[in-house]
Amino acid sequence: MEQLPSAGNTTNGNIGNCCLALASVLGSKVSFPNTQPYNDSISTYFSQQNCNLHPLCIVSPTTAEDVATAINTTTSTLETTNFAIRSGGHAPFTGASNIANGITLDLRGLDSITVSPDRTTASIGVGATWGEVYSHLDPLGLSVAGGRAAQVGVGGLTTGGGISYFSPRYGWTCDTVTNFEVVLANGTIVNANEHENPDLLIALRGGSSNFGVVTRVDLKAFEQGSIWGGSVYNSIDTYQQNLEAFADVNAAEGYDEFASLITSFGYSAQGKAIVNSIVYTKAEENPAVFRRFMEIPKLFGTVRIAGMHEIAVEQGSFSKVGKRQMTVVTTHGSTLPMLEAVYQRWDSSLANVDTIPGMVWAISLEPLPQAIYARNASKNALGLDDVSGSLVVTLLSATWDNESDDEKVEKAARELFDNIDNDARKLGLYEPFVYLNYAAQWQDPISSYKSKNVELLKRVSEEVDPQRLFQTIVPGGFKLPNC
Ligand SMILES: Cc1cc2nc3c(=O)[nH]c(=O)nc-3n(C[C@H](O)[C@H](O)[C@H](O)COP(=O)(O)OP(=O)(O)OC[C@H]3O[C@@H](n4cnc5c(N)ncnc54)[C@H](O)[C@@H]3O)c2cc1C
Repeated sequence: MEQLPSAGNTTNGNIGNCCLALASVLGSKVSFPNTQPYNDSISTYFSQQNCNLHPLCIVSPTTAEDVATAINTTTSTLETTNFAIRSGGHAPFTGASNIANGITLDLRGLDSITVSPDRTTASIGVGATWGEVYSHLDPLGLSVAGGRAAQVGVGGLTTGGGISYFSPRYGWTCDTVTNFEVVLANGTIVNANEHENPDLLIALRGGSSNFGVVTRVDLKAFEQGSIWGGSVYNSIDTYQQNLEAFADVNAAEGYDEFASLITSFGYSAQGKAIVNSIVYTKAEENPAVFRRFMEIPKLFGTVRIAGMHEIAVEQGSFSKVGKRQMTVVTTHGSTLPMLEAVYQRWDSSLANVDTIPGMVWAISLEPLPQAIYARNASKNALGLDDVSGSLVVTLLSATWDNESDDEKVEKAARELFDNIDNDARKLGLYEPFVYLNYAAQWQDPISSYKSKNVELLKRVSEEVDPQRLFQTIVPGGFKLPNC
């Protein structure tokens, strides 16, 4: 075995008895500061905020049993140390999936992907990325309703909900989970499915890291060939036409379940532009649902028939890794006046951020039709079972250079979202749902779920984690209210 550092001899000060205890049982799966595996782990977070956090040690399990050993060891040492759970590391805010002076459980080694002999289920380790999932499934003529960008992780996206190109056909990614394999606070490895621990299954569909460490998800797989997809850039002057085309696609009646869309209005030092990420999940060119979008004169960009992996790699290429990042989200109805209000509020907000070095300030409109949220609403935790009509998830993605501008960015983002929410209230289109996977640190997505769902989440937490370890010693991510 590698020689272990002694307590107190690292650049971080005391490395803690807990890390030494972990290394004594998990050997080289535990890494320490100033080693290659440790540096590889912390340098591969999406946001600079998380790259800058230095855990005392990083545990890199390769089996669910390793995770159980890690949890048992962490909770049984005299100095219990806080820990963070990381799958893909793409939640941007500080401490979501990394931790300073604690232990990070880096699950990227749990990356196996297998398909059942009857081709109806893909069993996926939470540390896999969606790019890895699609590159495995595309050649088999199969797919799953997973994330849209290749580099994002399976674990975080699935336990927080998951909007997929296939969601209008199959629901949120979490709706398509038939079984979660989970390590609970007492170190036992359990399954959550319709027959075993059915309430835990519902809780993990949107309840994030509050119940245990998910090690594997079994997702419904379906026959799927190539799709028609890509990104088209338009001049900002065409925003009216874009909003009208968006409202048409997201009409409450007759949503075309093969259509998936993200319309983004973006600002950077180069100027403003509109980018439409257009996907039709069939190998059909120029479907009628996107005709209005395709008639808008484009600056550049193509939509073509391709495999999911290629489309997911393209979608992922828009994000700048390792910079300061923030996302903020709200939900509202989908009328043209509401969409116009979002656009105008974003446009006015630019004056608050346009001098910030490296600023990219983009607002995206994502259709959330009933076809997505109502499909399995009584069997997930998201609390959208008594809502009707087409909704829009409005997401701000901000990227900038320097920590010294964090406060200014947050102030501008809060003001922008207060304004959008007020406009939505005035128009009678406000929907309290806050989508967890896009939420900012100051938002409280789980409280936005209906109270009966929050009660279920609390009850399941009491059952599987009576000592509240996942509410206390796992401080990152979004917690249950009043726990
Ligand atoms: C470029 C980009 C593209 C995106 N595209 C989409 C998209 O198409 N659809 C969509 O819905 N969202 C999308 N998102 C948002 C994404 O769903 C969230 O950022 C999600 O948290 C990422 O999951 P992860 O595993 O990479 O994150 P991580 O940062 O590893 O984890 C996120 C949270 O989940 C917890 N967690 C992670 N794994 C586990 C586990 N195994 N058990 C228990 N808790 C766990 C972590 O502790 C953390 O709090 C995108 C984000 C980015 C940056």
